[in-house]
Amino acid sequence: MNDLEYYRKELSEFSRRSFQRRLVGGTGGNLSVRIPDTDTVLVTPTAISLGDVKPEENILLNLEGEIIDSPMGLKASKEAGFHLAVYQTRPDTGAIAHVHPPYATAYSNKSMPLPLATVSARVNLKNVPCIDCFLPGSEELRNCVIEGVKNNPGINSLLMKEHGILTMGLTIKHAYYLADLLEDTAKIAYIESTIPKIA
Ligand SMILES: [Zn+2]
Repeated sequence: MNDLEYYRKELSEFSRRSFQRRLVGGTGGNLSVRIPDTDTVLVTPTAISLGDVKPEENILLNLEGEIIDSPMGLKASKEAGFHLAVYQTRPDTGAIAHVHPPYATAYSNKSMPLPLATVSARVNLKNVPCIDCFLPGSEELRNCVIEGVKNNPGINSLLMKEHGILTMGLTIKHAYYLADLLEDTAKIAYIESTIPKIA
């Protein structure tokens, strides 16, 4: 199996896991992975649920967004623009998960950084700032993501107001684990907020 085939399978595997874990529903969300030592990125397709993406349906793009390889003739997710912009801004990013998990997305509506309720979250997420809301696929959203990444050096994740989250990992598995930890952290913060104070 060549490298590209390997990454096609891996991207589908973690897309499916994101859906099954309920980090995203419907046809929302998109994942991508940079093919090491190249200026190309494999991105999930538009209009197909992450729960159903087959390896050959993922699309290989260059960093300018041109299609290099799409065996099934599909188009990349309309949010591929901000994935590519993050890869250009942060050369240390190997993969990106953009999903819409309910608890973390609910916290995003408060326009505040995520409350880091556990030691594990503080160690692994460090700081999860919140960026503004713009239409999916828009130039404004793309610019807002880039500003969020540039203004917060060292972050590996963002809340996207009224939308979802974005995590940046070394590998697709790493980006997925960050997204999973982020949602669990939001859930714990929420449960904690419902427990009455003991006098
Ligand atoms: Zn989205």
